[in-house]
Amino acid sequence: MTPRPQRNLSKSNAQFQRALKRLPLGVSSTFRYWGEDRTIYVARGKGGRTWDIDDNCYVDYRLGYGPAILGYADDRVDAAARKGMDVGGVFALSTERELIVADRIAKMVPAAELVRFSNSGTEAVMAALRLARAHTGRESYLLVEGGYHGLFDAAMWQADVEGWQEGGNTDPEVVPYGKGIPPTVRSLVHLTPMNDAQRLEDMFRRHGNDLAAMLIEPIQGNCCSIMANAEYVHLARELCTRYGVMLIIDEVKSGFRVGKGGIQGILGVTPDITTFAKAVANGYPIAIVAGREDVMRSFRYGGASHGGTYTAHSVSLAAADECLRILDETPALETLADYGERLKSGISSILNARGIVHSFSGHPSMFGLFFAPEPPDNYRAWKTSDYSFYDRMAHYLHDLGIICEPDSREPWFMCEAHGTDPTCLADTLRAVETAVDLTLE
Ligand code: PLP
Repeated sequence: MTPRPQRNLSKSNAQFQRALKRLPLGVSSTFRYWGEDRTIYVARGKGGRTWDIDDNCYVDYRLGYGPAILGYADDRVDAAARKGMDVGGVFALSTERELIVADRIAKMVPAAELVRFSNSGTEAVMAALRLARAHTGRESYLLVEGGYHGLFDAAMWQADVEGWQEGGNTDPEVVPYGKGIPPTVRSLVHLTPMNDAQRLEDMFRRHGNDLAAMLIEPIQGNCCSIMANAEYVHLARELCTRYGVMLIIDEVKSGFRVGKGGIQGILGVTPDITTFAKAVANGYPIAIVAGREDVMRSFRYGGASHGGTYTAHSVSLAAADECLRILDETPALETLADYGERLKSGISSILNARGIVHSFSGHPSMFGLFFAPEPPDNYRAWKTSDYSFYDRMAHYLHDLGIICEPDSREPWFMCEAHGTDPTCLADTLRAVETAVDLTLE
């Protein structure tokens, strides 16, 4: 019998009980609630590690859902952000650095001909969809099952796979994520499964002339890093062009992470509009809508309305300037992808030694782990698969000092600091070995 890890969470547990009285579920984002006894409160993060208020140290593969691309509290970005404070915050006017950062983005991502800043991924995607509608004069839009595009009503629709029979003629019902999303929005939403060319063509045949946009996350950063194959994305591009639909590639998670030019660079596809957020400023709140010049010029008086009190905040902009400089001019992205490869290979050795069939999806900088010979290629396949081994293993990993998502939905995220920390890899693999053995018992 492998000894069960004992993690002291007494301070977090007490904090949870206090927080519950003032904060719904004791947290500020529902996904941070991990149950009464397991919700943790963070004291600090540095590099690839996080410490909770009980002083447990974790190697962190959630990285705030991806933003900490260089690592927490990166000295270079934080120093730049401090200088950004001296500028003064927000002015209801523009600053010179907006153009400097926009130029950096356009240099790294050729499809980003023109750039607008937002504060969060949700805001950026909301603006992108409005822009597409303003540009096309159409209202409805197409989402890919398993994608997540933020918290606004238009984006919060999913395929109801429970109880649905694969192989039948009918598609799963389209349902909202939870309550409070008006059913009236439903009439504008279409959903299609990832990597199913025939269904995509059929969708465009039936609805293409009414669609303002197709939104796709080619690496589904909220669904196990399920990857679109290149043919599928190129087909989407071709159909969007043929039917006058705006192709929006949501790179809120993949942008400035999987490569300087994002997943669109890897797949060789040019969207009309792209959204970026997480890795842009190593965690400082900033997001981006970027795209083709003629489309982006619809952001104007009498066109698509866009703005926001905090857009292009001087602290976030200064952080973005430095973070993008580092990503563009140094081998940071290679370092973290190489770490991801080494981590995957270490996990594979442990699993192979125990005869456990497994596979990985996505990109080494944000990968999903599955206990099946092939990773799922769409949300339906994942939702109807057995991912209980992963869930149990993740539970043990938390107790052993590794933060990964408690279920296989979110990928493991890498940062540069994982790659430069001399012990992150060994600490992680030691914990994985124990967690796997405990899961097998
Ligand atoms: N789009 C994608 C692909 C995301 O992963 C997310 C968040 O995880 C969003 C949009 C929304 O971003 P935010 O949480 O910053 O509003």
